[in-house]
Order: sequence, then structure tokens, then C-alpha cells
Amino acid sequence: MIHDFAVIGAGMAGASIAAELAPDASVLLIEAEDAPGYHATGRSAAFYEECYGGPGVVPLTRASGAYLADHGFLAPRGALYVGRPEDRAAMADFRSSYEGTGVQIEPLAPAELAARVPHIRAEWSEALYQPACADIDVAGLHQHYLAQAKRQGVEIATRARVAGLSRRAGVWTITSERGTSWQAARIVNAAGAWADEIARLAGVRPVGITPLRRTVAVLRVAPQAPADLPLILDINGGFYFKADAGRLWLSPHDEIPSEPCDAAPEELDVAIAIDRFQQVTDWRIEAVERRWAGLRSFAPDRMPVYGFDAEGEGFFWFAGQGGFGIQTAPAAARLGAQVLTGQGPDAMTAGIDPAAFAPWRVQSARQSA
Ligand SMILES: Cc1cc2nc3c(=O)[nH]c(=O)nc-3n(C[C@H](O)[C@H](O)[C@H](O)COP(=O)(O)OP(=O)(O)OC[C@H]3O[C@@H](n4cnc5c(N)ncnc54)[C@H](O)[C@@H]3O)c2cc1C
Repeated sequence: MIHDFAVIGAGMAGASIAAELAPDASVLLIEAEDAPGYHATGRSAAFYEECYGGPGVVPLTRASGAYLADHGFLAPRGALYVGRPEDRAAMADFRSSYEGTGVQIEPLAPAELAARVPHIRAEWSEALYQPACADIDVAGLHQHYLAQAKRQGVEIATRARVAGLSRRAGVWTITSERGTSWQAARIVNAAGAWADEIARLAGVRPVGITPLRRTVAVLRVAPQAPADLPLILDINGGFYFKADAGRLWLSPHDEIPSEPCDAAPEELDVAIAIDRFQQVTDWRIEAVERRWAGLRSFAPDRMPVYGFDAEGEGFFWFAGQGGFGIQTAPAAARLGAQVLTGQGPDAMTAGIDPAAFAPWRVQSARQSA
């Protein structure tokens, strides 16, 4: 059988685009691991934050918001970008960079910041409030897309690492490490940190997707963090933390270049996170109960890459989801499927310009560099 599409990678990206393609096409979804979601998707900090990823990503995030809320995947939290008096200019720049995007950002008085964030040190007096921020049920969303894909006839192959890709007479042959092979008219590269590797296997020029390691530590603090604590982010990108089930999830906002791999946290990054946290709050840390790391993958301009390769026929990029691949998943998958099948925009994607994410922008920048 020749499938219309073979989607490589069954994390959030692959699962969501397979589900969106399924009504009109025969789709094969191929995953290297035993269980989909083992890599970046299963390691996220699980928040929806409209500014995250920068102004260029806002249209994808905001277009996804209604779908996430309507399906019950969001729990309101609110976010606070915090800083010290010397950060006022940075905070003003941050705020003005989102003007016209529709993102709601409100300054918060120091007394209100202190009331909302117990134990914050007095010098952290500046804050911008982002009310739309919410927690995302990441596993629920991922399972929703996998179930939708299955229900609509998508064939899912797990423990099937793609090791060979060749194209003859308009048909791709995909071969797994274990020797299974399939055929498809088009390849959808949703392999996360491995996206450039998949391109190389296919004889397609990589676009320069770089995996960057991000660490999260789960802290038990005393007194216990309130459940309604907003997500707290450093305006200078040095940390974020949020409450979860009586604990605090803390990240040093690290971006350590890495090979594509099963990422593991380094003690040094956990220590840096704790040091920064202690400069911001006087919460007593009783234990680091858990820690993990995952790879966030970025194109050189940090915008996602969605679209057909400029040179590799039948090769579609769905990669570079950086730190926003969960919160943008519904609109990104809908847009990706529309571009793949030549359909026009619908109500969800009407305000999004697909050209902003087209691979040729990265490929032509590389050519002229
Ligand atoms: C610590 C951390 C915090 C984050 N927090 C947030 C957040 O709060 N909100 C948000 O929106 N995003 C967040 N992100 C980003 C988000 O997790 C990612 O953007 C998203 O999960 C990317 O999904 P993906 O499907 O592209 O990648 P992945 O989930 O990594 O999936 C790629 C899949 O491809 C498979 N694969 C690779 N090579 C092959 C091959 N040869 N054959 C077959 N399969 C292959 C892999 O096994 C993997 O399952 C965070 C990420 C990290 C690491």
C-alpha cells in the first residue's frame, strides 16, 4: 500500500498533524520509541503563555487557545514577568514588542506583586501580568490527538526508528532499523530534535534545527507554595517557576546545545536554578524531589519550520517547535495539514500567514550567508 503521508515522530507535532490529516488521507505515523511522547512532549513545563516564543509565535498560540480551552485542556493560572528597578527599560521594551498582537499585558504595582507571590524579595518590585496564562494538560492533549488519529484509521508503528528514506518514481520508501518498510507519497518530518537527521536520511539539505537542553527541578519548599501562585518568569530569561500539587517546578531557563538524545539533567544546571531562585525568594528549600531535562529544538531564527522543502520533493518540514510546541499544537497542526493538502484556511487559521514559517526562509538565508 502507498500511504498518502508518512509522518515521522509521534510526539505532539506528529500526533497532532496525523490527526488533522486523517479525515482526507491515508496516514502512517512512525515512532522510534516504545511509547509516543517519551522525548520533548513528555518533559514540558505544561504552560500556555501567550508571549512565550516571541511576537512571531503569538498568532499560532492565540489561534490554539480556544481549541485547548473548549476541549478542557487549560486550567487558568496567570503569569507574572518579574524584575528589579534596573529592569524597568527591559520590561517596557518587552511590553511594547507585543503591541498589536492581541496579547494582554498589564503592569502590576509592587504591593500587588508581593501579595500574589509570597516570599518574593523586596528588590523584585517590577511585574507585568499576563492573565491568559494557563496550565495545559499535555498528556491529555497528546492522547486526544493519538486517539483521534487511530479512530480515523491512521496506522501507528511504534518501536520503529526510521533508518532509511529513498524516493523513486514519486514514491518514498521508508525503512526502519528493524527492517520493516513502508511506502508513502509524502514524508512529514515531525522528528523534533532529530529533524535534521531525518532530512539527511532523505538526502534533503538540513535547515539547521538545533536541540537545546532545558532543565526542570521539582522543589519541596516551606511554607508550601500556594496552589494559585502564577507562573513567575524572569524578565531577563534567567528562571521560571510555578506551583504544582504543593511543589514548585523550577527551571534555570537553560539552553545548552546538545546532540539529539535522551536528555538528562546536569547537577550544575539544577544548582544554578536553585541559586537564582534563592536570589528572588526567601522560600526555604526542603528537598529537590525530582529533576528532568528535555530538548527544545530551534531553527536559526527561532521560528517554527512548517512547509514543503524548497528542493526535496514530497518532503514536508514540521519542526522547530522550540519551547512552544504544546501551546501552539492545535493551530500548527491545522495549518500544516492545510498546507500539505492544499486546502485554504479555516476559522482557526484565518489570521495566520503560513509564509512566516516556510522552510525556504531558512534555506535562502543559509544560501546567501
Ligand atoms: C523542559 C521543557 C519545557 C517545556 N515547556 C513547554 C511549555 O510549557 N509549553 C509548550 O508549549 N512547550 C513546552 N516545551 C516545548 C515542547 O515540549 C516541544 O515544543 C514539543 O514537545 C515538541 O514536540 P515534537 O513532537 O516536535 O517533539 P518530540 O516530543 O521530541 O517528538 C519527536 C519524536 O520523533 C521521534 N523520532 C526521532 N527520530 C526518529 C526516527 N528516526 N524514526 C522514528 N521516530 C523518530 C522521537 O522518538 C520523538 O518521539 C518544553 C520543552 C521542554 C524540554
